Amino acid sequence: DSDRTASVSGSTDSDKTPVRVDSQESQVSDTETITDGHRWPRQNSMSMREWDIPYEELKMGEVIGTGRFGTVYRGYWHGDVAVKVLNMSYLSDEKTLEQFKNEVSTFRKTRHENVILFMGACMQPPKLAIVTSLSKGMTLYTHIHLRKDKFNMNKTTIVAQQISQGMGYLHARGIVHKDLKSKNIFLENGKVVITDFGLFSVTKLCFGNRQNDGLSIPPGWLCYLSPEIIKKLHAHQLHAEELPFSKASDVYAFGTVWYELLCSEWPFKSQPPEAIIWQVGKGMKQPLANLQASRDVKDILMLCWSYREEDRPDFIRLVNILDKLPKKRLARSPSHPIHLSRSAES
Ligand code: ADP
Ligand code: MG
Repeated sequence: DSDRTASVSGSTDSDKTPVRVDSQESQVSDTETITDGHRWPRQNSMSMREWDIPYEELKMGEVIGTGRFGTVYRGYWHGDVAVKVLNMSYLSDEKTLEQFKNEVSTFRKTRHENVILFMGACMQPPKLAIVTSLSKGMTLYTHIHLRKDKFNMNKTTIVAQQISQGMGYLHARGIVHKDLKSKNIFLENGKVVITDFGLFSVTKLCFGNRQNDGLSIPPGWLCYLSPEIIKKLHAHQLHAEELPFSKASDVYAFGTVWYELLCSEWPFKSQPPEAIIWQVGKGMKQPLANLQASRDVKDILMLCWSYREEDRPDFIRLVNILDKLPKKRLARSPSHPIHLSRSAES
């Protein structure tokens, strides 16, 4: 950079370079100013730029499943895709919609092995559809809770590392997932693919999640929510926009996924919502006495589940911590069982 500046200021010929760059920049912003200067409604210019998959180009197939935000269809658009159709409320205001569009426009800049390929979105009021690559694998949820697949410690660590890498990437891009859970993590031939990042903010636009004008609490959701979020639920305000999601709350959710991987069940299993809300809000954690794993493996849980946001590691640190887990376990001899420290528990 400094080299460039030196050569530019040192030579009259190269004056053209900065001039050309400048004019290019001003051209771009002129175009935008002109467009907006004519007082076109904002969403008009947006709809052309940000919603580039025309609905009629999408071939819709069968329903794959229904979740919090709407229905996921198998689709075809230059190959197999997954189409998530969000059921929007007719009452959604323009501002909220615009916010969401802005948020979605950041998804298209995501390029990472462990993050689902975001292909685009399209909109046909009141329907908003998000198009991603179709995952051929199964979710971690299916592996762990439905098929009861058991991952050995080595595989568990690799999966957790890939999740951390994908999440670290999203965070570096300024994207908070807000709904990290085993149902949103696919395993494709051993490769982790994270889906549904950032979509939680759309819940306020959706039908089907509302109960007395607030969010309902789907089963299995609470255990991913950090204390600072749980405490907001407690105040019987269940509006998504008021929940303090953050990078640190994503790390808390990762802790729960790490627990699922290790224990094949959810923390606070079969406890009523009020009991979970009360305990987590007070800083209590799922006891690990029955978890047969080494101290360092349990430490990761305790770090991610830290009560204070600032005590939770970021994903870059988690990648490092996971990397340092002893790999000896790979070729474990019978004389070195996995239960290294059954008693060490807090
Ligand atoms: P949830 O994440 O709570 O399961 P979703 O609405 O995200 O709810 O998903 C509904 C169904 O569609 C789930 O079975 C999910 O595994 C599946 N699904 C979501 N996204 C994809 C995708 N990109 N490829 C394949 N299946 C998907
Ligand atoms: Mg999902």
